[in-house]
Amino acid sequence: MSAPASEPVVRTVRGDIAPGELGPCDAHEHVFLVTPAQPGDEFSDVGKAIEEARTVRAAGASALVDWTPVGLGWDLVGLRRVSEETGLHVVAATGLHREVHYTADDPLRSETVDSLADRFAGDVAGEELPCGIVKVGASYHHLTSFERRAFEAAAQAHARTGAPVCVHTEHGTMGLELVELLGTLGVPSGSVILAHLDRNPDAGEHAETAAAGAWLQLDGPGRTKYWPDSVVLELVASLAERGHGARLLLGGDTGRASMQRAYGGGPGLDYLFRRFKPRLERELGRELAEEIFVANPARAFSFSPHR
Ligand SMILES: [Zn+2]
Repeated sequence: MSAPASEPVVRTVRGDIAPGELGPCDAHEHVFLVTPAQPGDEFSDVGKAIEEARTVRAAGASALVDWTPVGLGWDLVGLRRVSEETGLHVVAATGLHREVHYTADDPLRSETVDSLADRFAGDVAGEELPCGIVKVGASYHHLTSFERRAFEAAAQAHARTGAPVCVHTEHGTMGLELVELLGTLGVPSGSVILAHLDRNPDAGEHAETAAAGAWLQLDGPGRTKYWPDSVVLELVASLAERGHGARLLLGGDTGRASMQRAYGGGPGLDYLFRRFKPRLERELGRELAEEIFVANPARAFSFSPHR
């Protein structure tokens, strides 16, 4: 492992920025996503992505983190266009999703850990279109061997680059276990971001994970057919009361065409900023909202790049 450079940065698809430049951030989005796990719900149109992203900017966001990983409609050139056309800072992901998203004959399945690590580290260190996070995915209460290899590769890529490791949890399960696993692989908890924890809205459990030093990401606002936004707000309030407001991130995770207005669906990429953030400000206060949407993402997504 090489020595970290001194100044932390957030690595956007258009280059590094100071963490303080990030501004209000949607911590989990999908600007493009094509996966066999969601047939008929894929979206890959750059024009429509720009249309959606403009609404996010208009709703007050200045940054979004795209969690679409390698092989699933991954389009770094498209992300750069979205950033250029909207002025949003866009952080792109390298890494892999959980196993169910890859077909039986996908060549990524037969890549070794070392080869995946080279791929991920190379994507973060890329001169042209750098990635700013390394994504991995876990299954419901277990890790498949494919997923385990991705975790090992992501840990190697983290050691080589410093980039945060961003974890898809299935229904919010195994949060602390995954932080501990990454710890044994050499990734400090402060470089681990766990997504979808609000699918299991158990503040007590997630408080333990926050106490271990990991970032807790909630990204279920607008999924009204599963739970009302009040569930997410109560979870935020409860975690903040327990002293973990400084570990919380919020995302929209509009990972289906049917969730985007440009494709005739809803609630749209801007729901988090247009509807949920103002409600959080009203019910839980502007100070907590500022922490969650501005201060925390600037810390969570920044790292001191290794040479
Ligand atoms: Zn997602």
